[in-house]
Amino acid sequence: MEKSVVKFASVKFKKLEPDATLPAKFKRMLDLLPLKRMVERKSVALKMHLGGNLGYTTIHPLFLRILVKALKDAGGDVFVTDLYHRNNDNFGVRGAENRGYVKEVIGCKLVPVAGTDDKYYYSKKVNFKSLKEIQVAGQIHDADVLIDFSHVKGHGDCSYGGACKNIAMGCVTSETRREVHALEGGIEWNEELCDHCETCINECRYKANKFNDEGKYELFFHHCTYCQHCVEVCPNNALTFTGKSFIDFQKGLAVSTEEVLKTFSKDSVYYINVLLNITMLCDCWGMSTASLVPDIGIMASGDLAAIEKASLDAIKAENLLPDSLPEGRELREGKHLFEKIWGKDPYGQISELEKIGLGRSDYTIEEIE
Ligand code: SF4
Ligand code: SF4
Repeated sequence: MEKSVVKFASVKFKKLEPDATLPAKFKRMLDLLPLKRMVERKSVALKMHLGGNLGYTTIHPLFLRILVKALKDAGGDVFVTDLYHRNNDNFGVRGAENRGYVKEVIGCKLVPVAGTDDKYYYSKKVNFKSLKEIQVAGQIHDADVLIDFSHVKGHGDCSYGGACKNIAMGCVTSETRREVHALEGGIEWNEELCDHCETCINECRYKANKFNDEGKYELFFHHCTYCQHCVEVCPNNALTFTGKSFIDFQKGLAVSTEEVLKTFSKDSVYYINVLLNITMLCDCWGMSTASLVPDIGIMASGDLAAIEKASLDAIKAENLLPDSLPEGRELREGKHLFEKIWGKDPYGQISELEKIGLGRSDYTIEEIE
């Protein structure tokens, strides 16, 4: 079986000329894609994470403008879409102008993915553990074509945030995001054995656990690296590592992605991953920190598993840059930089995508000159 093709425009340049730099290569990459066949006279949802608050490491508007122009030139009716938060006027589509995403710059309108009240969605029944429904955002469901334009970065919950996460958590309602997060788990607390000594809280270097106002133990899985230090220090054996790890969450992402993608016909979805400003946190934190590794470039593919695998493979732990982690934060054991930071295997997401039939991780790179 032939390998899936991932096109790659590298930040490396041979000459000190604009034409040798990434935006020019990105244009050449888009010229090679069958955009006319894909988007002509069709509505095109361009899904991206517009970030929030003081974040400055989302995809630069210049790249978005180039992409929108290419889609429009190919005859597509394009709109950029992301979440709309009623209680936050500086996140996603709301306040996007604060980060440079305005129609005059990007070249098309910005649309709330599930309406301004998060109630415009289509319900899809699923059956994975507690996850019984995926509410696919209306604007995504109604579009003919999906361009999944993702900023690649780390992520506390799933270790890695790229093309899959942009769909699974970004093309659905907040209710579905909550339900997918509810799949997280791995450490169980036995209330009867606990004497509230708080040793586990004091010993957690990641500030991932606390007792709530009702005195119940709460774990913030985003910050938890599954180091199990809390389990080991508990004098009463009140904490148990269940071995569940975070894989149910990864499966939940794949299930959500599958339901979103089912609403598109074959060859109507394309993935573009931007590997610039690769930070440890997701853009949803409304802040930016220094890049973990040097910039890499832009990848594009029609195969979801392939582009995710290629993106992860390109991020090397040995390239970790100084000052890109909080003071005192050390890398743990792991086979990928993101696992060393978050304690969760980022390739788990790709295995789940493959199992469900959303691509093949066996890829070949075609570099753009
Ligand atoms: S497993 Fe480690 S990171 Fe998670 S709550 Fe326990 S001590 Fe904190
Ligand atoms: S260390 Fe054990 S006994 Fe002490 S608060 Fe934590 S869970 Fe409870």
